[in-house]
Amino acid sequence: MKPLSRIVPPSLTMSLDQEAKRLLAGGRDIINLTAGQADLPMPAEGKAAVRAALEADRTGYVPAAGSADLKEAVRKKKGWTDGSILISAGAKPLLNAAAACVLGAGDEALLPVPCYTSYPEMIRLSGAVPVSVPCRPENGFCVTPDDLSAGLTPRTKALLLNHPTNPTGAVYARDALKGIVDFCIAHDLWLLADEVYGAFVYDGGFTSLYDFPEIRDRLILVDSASKTYAMAGLRLGYAVAPDAAAQAMAGYLSHAIGCPCSLSERAALAVLSVGDPYPAALRDVFHARRDRMRAALSDLPGVRVAGGDGAFYLWLDVTGIDPDDVRFCRRLLTEEGVALTPGSAFLAPGFVRLAYTKDASLLAEAANRIRRFCTD
Ligand code: PLP
Repeated sequence: MKPLSRIVPPSLTMSLDQEAKRLLAGGRDIINLTAGQADLPMPAEGKAAVRAALEADRTGYVPAAGSADLKEAVRKKKGWTDGSILISAGAKPLLNAAAACVLGAGDEALLPVPCYTSYPEMIRLSGAVPVSVPCRPENGFCVTPDDLSAGLTPRTKALLLNHPTNPTGAVYARDALKGIVDFCIAHDLWLLADEVYGAFVYDGGFTSLYDFPEIRDRLILVDSASKTYAMAGLRLGYAVAPDAAAQAMAGYLSHAIGCPCSLSERAALAVLSVGDPYPAALRDVFHARRDRMRAALSDLPGVRVAGGDGAFYLWLDVTGIDPDDVRFCRRLLTEEGVALTPGSAFLAPGFVRLAYTKDASLLAEAANRIRRFCTD
């Protein structure tokens, strides 16, 4: 049999999540803080829209890059006045499409790390090479133009930036974003931006990269309903891109994905028209949890709590307890029944990610267990 020419490693976050679920199914008392998705229900309007679409037999294919009415709703909601809108099965296929369309064999893409687990593979799948650029703790894990310059070569074609950031929860200030925008223009780079956590910023407001008109002709900006409307499983994402890039991406999506789910499109249309109260309420829930968890873990001996200004993650430096983050997570899971994600999954060994995507009482219990683990 022909050998597999390329093996894509599975996401480490998913495998730990699965291990925690396996232990749970076997009767262990597990608090799983690995999964990056809200534990709260999606808006009722979205559920009703799915039921109605099903009853109306809206189960056929829709256009490859999304239906016109939803694209229009996204344009209005996001204020994406320039460029073309694309809809697909979550942010992921849109990011893959963007990478596939602007990168190719021999190209390089700058990748600030720690980063979302799928990014390096998304870049590799396009044939290009991810070039890691470390984000420094003293800059709140936000990358700077100076940091990026160190990774530049004549082959650099793009920067992939996630803001607010998974796994650190870092949020870029307007000035910091402006520096990055100028850097991309000066070095003729595409800016692939992932703002799926844009609704979850707790201290001060959120600035989108779309707010800088000068970058729009080289910006592919991806967002999705997964986090904002707690409907990750329905797989519905949206993006804005310059017209020519969007056309190429639509072609890619037609072959790789087919089209978005027809029912999820109706759900998205409904939740987008609900207005801001839903994401705002979700943000308030996460904000309160973030504050409580940060306070509960702040004085842990051997642990430093970093980041956490946005998204729904805390980023813990655990080198004072165990320099091996994977071993830290395995032991914490086995001994105390708390599942966290090792920083190695995000190219940042020595750290762990805590997703506060469980209710307050479970989080309080998890904090107690982590404290016991770190102090015993
Ligand atoms: N981008 C980031 C930074 C994420 O953390 C995630 C999911 O965890 C995704 C994209 C995937 O989003 P979607 O479910 O819309 O594909």
